[in-house]
Amino acid sequence: MSGNAHEPSCLFCKIVRGDIPSSKVLETEDAIAFLDIHPVNKGHVLVVPKHHHPHLVELPEALAAHVGSILPRLCRAVQAATGADGFNVIINNGTAAGQTVDHGHWHIIPRFHDDPVEWPWPHSEYVGDELGQMRFRIERELRPNPNDD
Ligand code: 5GP
Ligand code: ZN
Repeated sequence: MSGNAHEPSCLFCKIVRGDIPSSKVLETEDAIAFLDIHPVNKGHVLVVPKHHHPHLVELPEALAAHVGSILPRLCRAVQAATGADGFNVIINNGTAAGQTVDHGHWHIIPRFHDDPVEWPWPHSEYVGDELGQMRFRIERELRPNPNDD
């Protein structure tokens, strides 16, 4: 799988290389999954592509697809092993979203009906034509750029 070289100062690259120990639960050719050392709830797993890409938006589609393909099996295992009532799959992207390790990764967080986790987050409302405007802006960004080949 193509991708960036390992980043020597990156915590998760060090874990991928085995320079820092981790409690690994699954390893594939392109990704590893291990226990988060400070779990939101016990059994909290991180899924980390082996190649260094700081953020989700930089991941090659094939690598993102690979991680997506192993998520259901990992989530079933986390839920069965913890007896969780449910789970959250979350990616924090950028410091504004709470990302602290700049090596893109997925969180699988087991959840319990009576756990103290503050979730869900608050919701807001669109006013006037804001909803249509937002749809237009995102759709426009998704259109192929005529300058790209
Ligand atoms: P982020 O905040 O970037 O989305 O997630 C980074 C996660 O990495 C945090 O949940 C944090 O607890 C976890 N973490 C930080 N340092 C280590 C470590 O040395 N080992 C493991 N297993 N997890 C870590
Ligand atoms: Zn890295």
